[in-house]
Amino acid sequence: TMDQAGREQLVRALAAAVIDHAEELTRLDQAIGDGDHGLNMKRGFEAVLADLPATAAKPLPDMMKAIGMTMVMKVGGASGPLVGTFFLELGKALPGEPARADLVAATAKAIAGVRARGKSETGQKTMLDVLVPVQAAFAAGGDGAALKAEAARAAEATVPMLATRGRASFLGERSIGHMDPGARSSQLMIAAAADALG
Ligand code: ADP
Ligand code: MG
Ligand code: MG
Repeated sequence: TMDQAGREQLVRALAAAVIDHAEELTRLDQAIGDGDHGLNMKRGFEAVLADLPATAAKPLPDMMKAIGMTMVMKVGGASGPLVGTFFLELGKALPGEPARADLVAATAKAIAGVRARGKSETGQKTMLDVLVPVQAAFAAGGDGAALKAEAARAAEATVPMLATRGRASFLGERSIGHMDPGARSSQLMIAAAADALG
């Protein structure tokens, strides 16, 4: 089980992973979007950090819901509501002291929330192209190292994809040849979570 210090460490690791790579995320979004993904995600996680350690004093489900609310409220653009929905639904689905099977079920529900909110599916060059295969690897019994490897593979696999959702879809064929920014930020958060929990 995860105590308050563990929860705070997890949140700090997620925030650092995104904030330390904000410029890279911005560059990716400059190529196929409007160049704000790094700033959007950084703003959101800075707001999450500002609520610590109070958020980490809450039970795990409530902490996840609080992070989701903050992301929805503080992050503009498409990614705020989508990443926010992920954390909100995760919090709603998690029991207080989740076993592995609970985490598998809760991440599936969180991804279903993103899908519904984004009216999107895999293969459209979005964050779902990382979230879905990594969750499948998790459900299949993958450990932290396996999930990190799957996240890296899946983010790289968005490079040759044609974007059909989000701003990148406005570019049509010109969206091909660049990694999706939301896929990359998802990979970074997954790697941070795997390290913090492993
Ligand atoms: P915006 O595109 O509004 O500027 P961001 O740049 O912060 O927002 O986020 C862009 C990322 O959001 C994309 O790289 C993609 O991964 C993700 N995204 C956009 N639209 C959708 C959608 N409908 N479903 C899933 N993910 C999406
Ligand atoms: Mg953008
Ligand atoms: Mg934008």
